[in-house]
Amino acid sequence: LFGGTFDPPHVGHLVTAVNVMHALKLDQVILMVANVPWQKEGSRAITPVQDRFAMVEAAVAAVPGLVVGDTEIHTGGPSYTVDTLRSLRQQNAEYVNATFFTIVGDDAAAGVPTWERFEELTELTRLVVVDRPGAPVALSTDIDWIRVEVPRLDVSSTDLRSRFTDGRPLDYLITQPVLGVIRERSLYSLPIGAQA
Ligand code: ATP
Ligand code: MG
Repeated sequence: LFGGTFDPPHVGHLVTAVNVMHALKLDQVILMVANVPWQKEGSRAITPVQDRFAMVEAAVAAVPGLVVGDTEIHTGGPSYTVDTLRSLRQQNAEYVNATFFTIVGDDAAAGVPTWERFEELTELTRLVVVDRPGAPVALSTDIDWIRVEVPRLDVSSTDLRSRFTDGRPLDYLITQPVLGVIRERSLYSLPIGAQA
């Protein structure tokens, strides 16, 4: 399980997903689109969830093993990983006996102990952390983390959103299928005639 706001999904997400899948020999990585990202609520305008879903769907379409998850959208309300894992197991026969791994970048990992019903969460899933560029983040020692080394790409959705606004290049930071959805749906006020 690899949850995120994905506003928009970028190569940092995809490189992480395929490399963790390979390193841990996972059958699948579910990019789970957060319905209401409670950590981010109120701080900025978040792109409507159906648009974020469509972008992630486009991002994973041609990548074996990567799938987009809609569990949190169907559940509605704030998205808690502990509920998502329970729903996945209850609602999909293919996950009844699955072993779950939950992947987080180290910035998100630092906050895991504050996540809803954290104790229960650690019983449902192993937690996998990947480093992002920048200063190392102190992680809770209460968690038996699995660390996976992936290429550290200094790419974030925040930086991409500002690139859309100020016209700096998007090339190689975001994939063409995702850009297609952004253009079709006129997301991020992409300037008319922009080369993206
Ligand atoms: P924002 O800047 O809006 O917070 P983001 O780029 O951090 O966006 P999120 O949707 O917040 O993307 O992240 C979802 C998950 O992906 C988090 O666990 C985050 O740490 C991880 N992640 C995001 N970008 C990278 C990256 N470049 N490398 C590794 N992990 C990443
Ligand atoms: Mg983030």
